[in-house]
Amino acid sequence: MRTQYIFVAGGVMSGVGKGIASASIGKILQSRGFSVTAIKIDPYVNVDAGTMNPTEHGEVFVLDDGMECDQDMGNYERFLDVNLSSDNYMTTGSVYQAVINRERALEYKGKCVEVVPHIPMEVINKIKKAAKKNRAEIVITEIGGTVGEYQNILFLEAVRMLKAENPGDVLLVLVSYLPIIGDGHELKTKPTQYAVRTLNSAGLQPDIIIARSKNGIDKKRKEKIAISCGVEENGIISAPNVESIYDIPVNFEKDNLSDFIIKKLKIKPKRVDLKEWRAFVSKIKKSVKPIKIGIVGKYFTTGEFVLADSYISIIEAVKHAAYATGIKPEIEWLNSEEFEQNKEKIKELSNYNGVIVPGGFGGRGVEGKIAAIKYLRENKIPYFGICYGMQLAVIEYARNIAGLSGATTTEIDKQTEYPVIDIQREQKSKIEKNDYGGTMRLGAYEAEIKKGSIAHAAYKQTSVSERHRHRYEVNEDYIEAMENSGLVFSGQSPDGKLMEIIELPRDKHPFFVGVQFHPEFKSRPLNPHPLFKKFIEAAKNDLK
Ligand code: GLN
Repeated sequence: MRTQYIFVAGGVMSGVGKGIASASIGKILQSRGFSVTAIKIDPYVNVDAGTMNPTEHGEVFVLDDGMECDQDMGNYERFLDVNLSSDNYMTTGSVYQAVINRERALEYKGKCVEVVPHIPMEVINKIKKAAKKNRAEIVITEIGGTVGEYQNILFLEAVRMLKAENPGDVLLVLVSYLPIIGDGHELKTKPTQYAVRTLNSAGLQPDIIIARSKNGIDKKRKEKIAISCGVEENGIISAPNVESIYDIPVNFEKDNLSDFIIKKLKIKPKRVDLKEWRAFVSKIKKSVKPIKIGIVGKYFTTGEFVLADSYISIIEAVKHAAYATGIKPEIEWLNSEEFEQNKEKIKELSNYNGVIVPGGFGGRGVEGKIAAIKYLRENKIPYFGICYGMQLAVIEYARNIAGLSGATTTEIDKQTEYPVIDIQREQKSKIEKNDYGGTMRLGAYEAEIKKGSIAHAAYKQTSVSERHRHRYEVNEDYIEAMENSGLVFSGQSPDGKLMEIIELPRDKHPFFVGVQFHPEFKSRPLNPHPLFKKFIEAAKNDLK
């Protein structure tokens, strides 16, 4: 099978939507009938994203095979509606690690192993492997960072080498930003020209420029960029700011991007069909009735931009479910530490139609989250606890209903009298030996769903697979006591040892559900996650 490669690099500055642009290019090519896969290259030395702080790097996204990676992988999965694997993600660290492992295994047969060409060759190997595994006709590879940084020069070298080997099968897209000076309308193209020069000095010439700007660019500006950058005018794509990221594939097609790519790669489209996607986009526009969803978290210290990035999959999962129901979610951030300082503030939770406590680690803000969960339970406000949000709901129930006063998780207090959440048994011995690497339960695991539960009403099946990322779990020793006081364990691992879903019966609460896994990682625009759908339905019923 012939494979062709599209690389996406960024110019001028970061944070202008390279990830979404890559996912959208994938989407429009998929809609023309090609099988597409997407790869992200992160320039970090970290081997994976598991050790990166979400306030700095954004959410850690988890794949089925347990790979902890960049949030852009989530964008690819959502736009392309595919499940990706660790073959689709690499960092500088993982590439060097692979080369060093090969060297130790004598695979270079006594040769000197050098940064060039061996590092770029390894990058190319990985890309080809992902292409093969995903049976992709077209592979979109996003190179993190911005051209001109030392960090990504070896990845650009990989593009150059691959192109030298297959000149007709490689395209390079530059996603660049056009700033406006002052409050006028003077859109500046010079920074983009410099970015192209920088690519030129790496031996590369872009075929397509995605020109990001506030309001889009006109024909005149396209001509100017085309001439000054040596790119065909049809290859200059206007990419204005949008209300919803899901508009972007549709916008790209307004400038006929897929036609241009098809012409450049000399391939024949099998169909034209962005119909379903367009229908979804128009449904978003029609979803106007507002619903208020609160997210209680602690990653709030570095400003709004980071905040949304730390919880991006949850935000998107809420949106998918809401749009499917024809309503518009208004998401607000609630800082759990404020609930600790000011008890009166908790009452503000009654302004919300539904509240989520998402995943988290450590002790900061935990008592505020537990107080919030108690309020939501007592006031019958729909509650959805994810991972830590589930564990904290178990703690709240243990303390306030099962009579286990002071119950907590050993993540916070190792000496607690009632460790209702405790380290996973198989991990205990590892940690005792100070072996912290690989102590999380990561990736897809099966769960069995109890008939008659809310979870079963949502999934409509008794066996599901969901993605995990946790070190602690519900302590088996307390399950009976909790069940006797009314908590339902409606999802469990097939061996019955791990509690995957908790809930309260519907006659006690409209929606009080906690899950040990991360359902947000599997929600797709055209296929919202069943538990998020049920949560949003309950929140919609809460609209008085
Ligand atoms: N801190 C908890 C644990 O390690 C929850 C993790 C999470 O929310 N992702 O089990």
